[in-house]
Amino acid sequence: MTDVQTESGVLAGEQRMLIDGELRYTDSGAMFDVVHPASEEVAGQATDGTVADMERAVGAARRAFDETDWSRDLDFRYHCLIQLHEALDRNKERLRRILVTEVGCPVTVSGSQIESPIEEVEHWAEHGKAFDYLVDTGIHPTQLGPARRKIHYEPIGVVGAITPWNVPFYLNIAETVPALMAGNTVVLKPAQLTPWSGSEYGRIVAEETDIPAGVFNVVVSNANEVGAALSADPRVDMITFTGSTATGRAILAAGAATVKKTLLELGGKSAHIVLDDADFDSALPMAAMMACVMSGQSCILPSRILLPRSRYDEGLEILKTMMEGFPVGDPWTPGVMQGPQISAAQREKVLGLINSGIDSGARLITGGGVPENLPTGYYTQPTLLADVDPDARISQEEIFGPVLTVTPYDTDDEAVAIANNSIYGLSGEVSGGDLDRAFAIATRIRTGNVTINGKSHFGITSPFGGTKQSGLGRRNGDEGYREYLEAKTIGMPA
Ligand code: ADP
Repeated sequence: MTDVQTESGVLAGEQRMLIDGELRYTDSGAMFDVVHPASEEVAGQATDGTVADMERAVGAARRAFDETDWSRDLDFRYHCLIQLHEALDRNKERLRRILVTEVGCPVTVSGSQIESPIEEVEHWAEHGKAFDYLVDTGIHPTQLGPARRKIHYEPIGVVGAITPWNVPFYLNIAETVPALMAGNTVVLKPAQLTPWSGSEYGRIVAEETDIPAGVFNVVVSNANEVGAALSADPRVDMITFTGSTATGRAILAAGAATVKKTLLELGGKSAHIVLDDADFDSALPMAAMMACVMSGQSCILPSRILLPRSRYDEGLEILKTMMEGFPVGDPWTPGVMQGPQISAAQREKVLGLINSGIDSGARLITGGGVPENLPTGYYTQPTLLADVDPDARISQEEIFGPVLTVTPYDTDDEAVAIANNSIYGLSGEVSGGDLDRAFAIATRIRTGNVTINGKSHFGITSPFGGTKQSGLGRRNGDEGYREYLEAKTIGMPA
């Protein structure tokens, strides 16, 4: 939670996209609406880019990679990214208001979506500057005599970054800045519901940094086919994507023809195993808060709570109390921690999944509908479902709403089996009094990340990503930087 100072009020962002150094509208002049989810009002518009705009942007990125010094001039890249860091920091309150306008994210909890990514730009600049791009591995015996081998880490080329709407500014930064620092050129395609977090980033790059034309491009569009065109374009060497597993599969398939490197961070259905010796009064209020704070629109949210049968009712009572008292309301109001869902369609999906859970035998403990005092805006009540069948749809599909499902278990082995009963493998959580036991269970959960006793796995210095159908590759940490580099081995006379 951050004590942020901001002017409140809806703010429209940059309407134009950045292609080849120019902020421009699509040729036809077509625009699409951006809706503020807390009021259901049109907040403004963005240019509706086309496949032709995407092709132009990819061409610019290709030229900038092939024909300029960007990929070879580390000092210049460092200079540009430090400039970008400072420029974003100057625009911080504007970016925050755009975020709240587009997403309905409460101002009170916006720090992790604004301050953190801005700090991360500086982190990547420093990490990239210090990175060892040439490693001499010494003399290796070969049949033709000894050979020295050096590994040269080189940028991959043109990187297409496709981002979702749930944490748009953060993910726009996370997917593009390490790629740029590593020497790649980038085309960013932000999500339809959140174009301004991308277009505003483009405006800042164009107006307030020395990043050359074509190195960074943003194509804003209301059409999925524009993202599809990016992922299929043979001039693109790598796609980095965050979003649904269904779209991730389509992107992987589209890149197959040209064997594109693909970094995917996809859906999750994380379980939180609460052991019988856990501190319920600390673990469970935190679990309920995490479910509500971004209106549940988070891929790493541990949305399946597994409670020991011996303490089942006690656990349900704590979760119920926390969810019923949770501050839901207008995202501009200080202290509010849960805003609306991002769209009417998204709320319909959440309510539909809650109903499917009830139909499959789950017991509704609290919530389940729209808050009576918030008839306007796409609000959903914090919702708690108990006795949830681990095979039911609501246990298997990502909900992306302020919903916790609770399932009882009898033994540690059963809890691990339920946690692993998922096509997803993004994250998870274990709460327990005996740290060795909790750690042993964490190692048995088949996911890329696990939190123990509320100590988050997530941060810029540690690798983050999914196993199974939650993704390919890692963001963050040194592993995350290396994703944007190719290792070239050069054999030479000793
Ligand atoms: P959601 O279903 O919640 O909108 P998606 O995973 O479909 O989430 O969207 C995330 C991003 O992927 C958005 O920027 C969207 O425009 C883009 N996208 C959607 N379909 C495709 C596709 N077939 N190829 C490439 N990008 C796509």
